[in-house]
Amino acid sequence: MCGTDGDSSPPGREPHGGISRRGVLLATGLALGATAFSVDLFSPQLSANAAGTYLRPCGDVPISSTWQGHRNRKPPSGEPGTDYAVAMRSPIRAATGGVIVDRKDTTDSATGRYIALRADDGNYIRYLHLASSAVAIGTRVSRGQVIAYSGASGFGSETGYGSHVHVSLWLGGTPSQLGFPNTVNFENLVDGGPVPIYPEDDPVPTHQSTDFATSVALPANTWTTVAVAAGQLYLAIVGNGIVETGDVSLNLKANGLTTGLQVRLVAEKLASNSGPVVTTLVQPVTEIRATAAAGSPTQGQHAQSYQLVGPMRLFVQLMALNSGVTLTGISVRKNYWTS
Ligand SMILES: [Zn+2]
Repeated sequence: MCGTDGDSSPPGREPHGGISRRGVLLATGLALGATAFSVDLFSPQLSANAAGTYLRPCGDVPISSTWQGHRNRKPPSGEPGTDYAVAMRSPIRAATGGVIVDRKDTTDSATGRYIALRADDGNYIRYLHLASSAVAIGTRVSRGQVIAYSGASGFGSETGYGSHVHVSLWLGGTPSQLGFPNTVNFENLVDGGPVPIYPEDDPVPTHQSTDFATSVALPANTWTTVAVAAGQLYLAIVGNGIVETGDVSLNLKANGLTTGLQVRLVAEKLASNSGPVVTTLVQPVTEIRATAAAGSPTQGQHAQSYQLVGPMRLFVQLMALNSGVTLTGISVRKNYWTS
């Protein structure tokens, strides 16, 4: 069912930290990360599903990493799903009828490009690492309709992984409502029988996950460096001779926004582990516009891939675009490899 138009990547493997991924990142500092902004969408109530409800994205192809395999990683995947090994640009078919509710068209962060389907049964399905999406947000699709083409995108590259499609399933709500790790096994709900399994032998990243409630006044129109955890200013500190490659996603909450907030990462190259700073590398800005209803904070996300060649360190700066803004929370999700 899936196309096989010419790609030499080993199907379905995720060479986390491997050559293909590192090869696309800059060797001397931060990779030029793109930015992403995500929007919460709300789903209707859950209705239970039985096996046989859903269509696999590309037919009965090998599974290169199971949902349980994602969970068994140490630490576990932040979004466990099923990896289907398919050639680049294979057509991806909607699991069931529903509406396209989210779509990301940039290759940055661990997800790469994705498309999200809110099924008519109230469940939520995401297809990751795409080459392209084929339908717009808001489109009603039917079971089996081609909604995207598979790829290997992630970490700011078209080849952040081996070629495959990762399918995540949440029951009865959005990932933001239920938590990104709280998926269920899509394979338990699909048509047909089991498919061949490859061993789980890919190198996997180290995950770092912190949620920091804070209260930091942000003066208007001034960059302010903010802590990412109690007593912790840096997202990463990489010592001499060490290379750290990864992606980081920041979720920010702020009160008092009437205009918005900007966020950027800054890396410093040091002369030695204890400094001084030799070069400052300021990264692209994400702007988070004020959207909150009265009494609730505005939330926004900034995601970026990076490579730090030690001695280097990485931190976050925020700039309020109006006065009276307070940062109330910062969550960090980071996947990285060191060598
Ligand atoms: Zn996966």
